[in-house]
Amino acid sequence: MKKRIAIVGGGLVGSLLAIYLVKRGYVVNVFERRHDPRKTDLYAGRSINLALSTRGLKSLEEVGLAAKIRQEAIPMHGRMMHNIKGELSFLPYGKEGQFINSISRASLNVMLINEAENLGAQYTFNHRCTHVDLDKTTLTFQDEDHHITQKQFHQIVGADGAFSAVRGAMQFTDRFDFSQDYIDHGYKELTIPAGHYGSFQLEKNALHIWPRESFMMIALPNPDGSFTCTLFFPFEGKKSFDALKDLSNVEKFFQDQFPDAVKLMPDLLKDFQENPTSSLVTMQCYPWCKNNTLLIGDAAHAIVPFYGQGMNAGFEDCRILNKLLNETHDDWSAAAAKFQTQRKPNADAIAKLALDNFVEMRDLVGDPEFLLRKKIESH
Ligand code: FAD
Repeated sequence: MKKRIAIVGGGLVGSLLAIYLVKRGYVVNVFERRHDPRKTDLYAGRSINLALSTRGLKSLEEVGLAAKIRQEAIPMHGRMMHNIKGELSFLPYGKEGQFINSISRASLNVMLINEAENLGAQYTFNHRCTHVDLDKTTLTFQDEDHHITQKQFHQIVGADGAFSAVRGAMQFTDRFDFSQDYIDHGYKELTIPAGHYGSFQLEKNALHIWPRESFMMIALPNPDGSFTCTLFFPFEGKKSFDALKDLSNVEKFFQDQFPDAVKLMPDLLKDFQENPTSSLVTMQCYPWCKNNTLLIGDAAHAIVPFYGQGMNAGFEDCRILNKLLNETHDDWSAAAAKFQTQRKPNADAIAKLALDNFVEMRDLVGDPEFLLRKKIESH
């Protein structure tokens, strides 16, 4: 009998894992709390993008998807810094030919879901996991009409993100370590629309940064010529989201701090008012497996986004788990035990690097001496 695997969460990592596992011959069921993103616009017209690096591409490559996804991505060869006068300086990411990629979260998710389904994975949307029985490997779901169902599997994988319900069940077990640390900054997404005939109003092939010491704004390009900007800003204090609650202060603040960008943001006030202000958190836990249940991606290790590596690390989890299933001849308990001991130090390291990189991005990339040193290092 083929082993039946349930993946809780049909986001980026859950869907890539579904592809890996269905290719191994498992019967794979993915349960997702939200609506099918192919039938509803989850992002309500907002274009949210992510930096996809070689780490993530390698995992997509192994399932034959990298070339297709590269076609949808925009290479970013370095960081373009905008100082307070609107003057630009460019810092390459590495040697010539090295770059990261800007990719739409929504289209990447849809591509992964389509591929997983085409290969035979079964998706059930509008199903929120509400309970996990770690002894019986049973999941309880609630649909949008509040119907409750229960299903049993041979193996459960929690790919349900930073606020994982699967991890929540593990938190009630003995000797389970868990921590969550919010930073003082939150973020808000804003837009620089395309120019005439879909032209890019800033350099297309760069990740743009407006470093302002205690805060910063970044922008990543989209294929339609627009840029998604993210303002990382304290929640409280003199310069903070709190201080900008009165919308009349927003325009002046942007004109003072981001004069070259604000000229390109005709919908700034509307975006600022309508788009949510979200928090940023690091979640760490251990162990990642209990009986026949395993955590992966943000459910196991959610990090702040300043290294652009959360999804990439989650994609790497999928590749490493697949490799360990090869090595253990699909002995899940042996593979899961190796998986958590191998991946935990890496997850902790990237969590720390991501926090450190916030200081570099918002503060040091605005420092001319630092820029000169980095330029010399990259040659
Ligand atoms: P998620 O993407 O959170 O997916 C989890 C899925 O599970 C969701 O679809 C959710 O609806 C579903 N779910 C949740 N609870 C339940 C439940 N109880 N039952 C059923 N389904 C459930 N990473 C990068 O690599 N590069 C970047 O440039 C980058 N930029 C970022 C910018 C920001 C502002 C933020 C916040 C994060 C960024 N990240 C980036 C991190 C990246 O978004 C995450 O690491 C990645 O989305 C993790 O994927 P995941 O599938 O593990 O979790």
